[in-house]
Amino acid sequence: MKDPVQRYAKGPLSVTFDPRVCTHSAVCVRGLYDVFDVSKKPWVNLDGASAERVVEQVKRCPSGALQFTVEASKG
Ligand code: SF4
Repeated sequence: MKDPVQRYAKGPLSVTFDPRVCTHSAVCVRGLYDVFDVSKKPWVNLDGASAERVVEQVKRCPSGALQFTVEASKG
């Protein structure tokens, strides 16, 4: 079966979205519309804000559908 988890990456930042977990609270859309816009495809645009701001918003996702990882810089 196809993995339904959507993955987005920009530099060291990776954001995943699991639609099976999302409770459609729209906290992400209201909080950071320039990144999370359900009228667009793909609906996550990591160019819309700084990595710090994206991380801040992902942490506010009440269901845990949005997750992030930041790869440690090498060297
Ligand atoms: S904040 Fe989380 S639970 Fe709410 S709509 Fe966004 S991804 Fe779904």
